[in-house]
Amino acid sequence: MARHVHRVRVSALTPKMDVEPAELRHLQVLRLRVGDALEVFDGEGEEGRAELSALSPASATLTLLGRTEAAAEYPQPVTLAIALLKGDKLSDVVRAATELGAARIQLLHTRYADVPDIGENKLTRLRRVGEEAARQSQRSVVPEVLAPIKLGMLDLDGQLGVYAHPGSRLKLAELVKWTQPVTLISGPEGGFAPEDLSVLERAGCQGATLGPRILRAETAPLAMLGALAASGV
Ligand code: SAM
Repeated sequence: MARHVHRVRVSALTPKMDVEPAELRHLQVLRLRVGDALEVFDGEGEEGRAELSALSPASATLTLLGRTEAAAEYPQPVTLAIALLKGDKLSDVVRAATELGAARIQLLHTRYADVPDIGENKLTRLRRVGEEAARQSQRSVVPEVLAPIKLGMLDLDGQLGVYAHPGSRLKLAELVKWTQPVTLISGPEGGFAPEDLSVLERAGCQGATLGPRILRAETAPLAMLGALAASGV
């Protein structure tokens, strides 16, 4: 069985890299020693092999041995734009969406809101959930979790925009050709209002079905990302 190699997030891949305090604690807990092999990633798509070259109670230094291909990323960045959801549902969506390869998670205000807004503390928690899920799923990108904006403010310039809407005829996997970045848009529990649908259409987005069953608002975004992930890219 392949040996699990610990992954360390660094600010940038350079010949010598200082380890941040939070990462240092991980190295100490794992009782790593000078000479041990590690993997490094910068959270923005760069990753490589490294060696622990110095370790003290207060600091650690890594030496970069070589860069590696970011194998866990899609050919084009995928943004998940999702309406605000109640309770802890967003945490579950952020965790699973990160595992399923989202590069950015944009929270949205839509006409039928499940909750009117989200506080700064919750946003910070969601970002931490994304960071932890990225490490666990061996991503080299840690998704940004962006504060909510109105649906009409979504910037889709140069992107393929696809929104999930029951009764649509098109299928997501048929729309995504990986020639441009992709934004997947998923609605609130009450669905997209007619004015939301007009905004999406005017922005050039296409509606897609997720099958004949009505999915909960926290399930639909994962079905969208799952369709991309299951295509094997
Ligand atoms: N009655 C609402 C409607 O007709 O839109 C149902 C909303 S559904 C609970 C919440 C969100 O999940 C929808 O806005 C849509 O984005 C997505 N969704 C759920 N089931 C879907 C399906 N079968 N096909 C496409 N999108 C779906």
